[in-house]
Amino acid sequence: RPVVAMQNVTKVFSNGTLALKDMSLEVKSGEFLSLLGPSGCGKSTALRIIAGLGGPSSGSIDWPSSKINSKGLPEGDVGFVFQEPTLMPWSTVFGNVYLPLKLRGVSKSAARDKVMEVLASVGLADFADAYPRELSGGMKMRVSIARAIVTRPKLLLMDEPFAALDEITRQKLNDDVLKLWEQSGLTVIFVTHSVFEASYLSNRIVVMRARPGQVFTDLAIEQPDI
Ligand code: ADP
Ligand code: ADP
Repeated sequence: RPVVAMQNVTKVFSNGTLALKDMSLEVKSGEFLSLLGPSGCGKSTALRIIAGLGGPSSGSIDWPSSKINSKGLPEGDVGFVFQEPTLMPWSTVFGNVYLPLKLRGVSKSAARDKVMEVLASVGLADFADAYPRELSGGMKMRVSIARAIVTRPKLLLMDEPFAALDEITRQKLNDDVLKLWEQSGLTVIFVTHSVFEASYLSNRIVVMRARPGQVFTDLAIEQPDI
């Protein structure tokens, strides 16, 4: 069963903007899929619909093997990383990564090992007590990734996560995300406008065209496993 499946999804915003037209996509378990396309082609809109952060205007979205809550959304199975790390400035690195577990009622002592393990997996084991303002942009992004995976989601969604970082930091993070994916068996959907990033990271690339009102192509380029 696919982790997530979109069928003929169209999204028209209330101001009349046609952001997605007739998009169908099935994401298999364990895939690292990049959604590649120019700004404005509807990548974020598609990702938000997959995350359950906005419904389609028509068409359907299914999370076949997830627990579905009363609002028809997947429960706790999706981690989201945005371009802006959006960390709580008043809380430490530990506190920021603990938050999703706290919201699920896990006590701090019960969460400690899990949080530290996830921090170690993103290279931040020594920074648990630091505050976001003390961290570089790359490190803040690592915290944001740790926070997204601490609940062990099935699906990790990343929306142009490294676009604001310098090239070297970005390349390091690409390598680390790849390592994380290889070690964890996570399913990843990665939104990018960089052909390089998409081809470096993914084992499947879905190319989205500009002007979704006129053309939408869900052309998939399958790459062999490296
Ligand atoms: P991308 O992520 O590929 O840059 P988006 O999904 O953000 O593209 O946007 C697709 C189109 O929908 C764009 O024309 C954008 O301006 C428009 N759009 C995105 N969000 C909204 C919104 N909340 N209201 C109206 N139009 C929107
Ligand atoms: P990355 O986060 O990808 O490792 P950065 O350029 O963000 O790369 O940081 C490089 C290294 O410099 C970090 O891994 C960390 O060891 C160190 N560093 C950066 N900012 C700080 C800071 N505020 N305090 C202590 N060490 C830091």
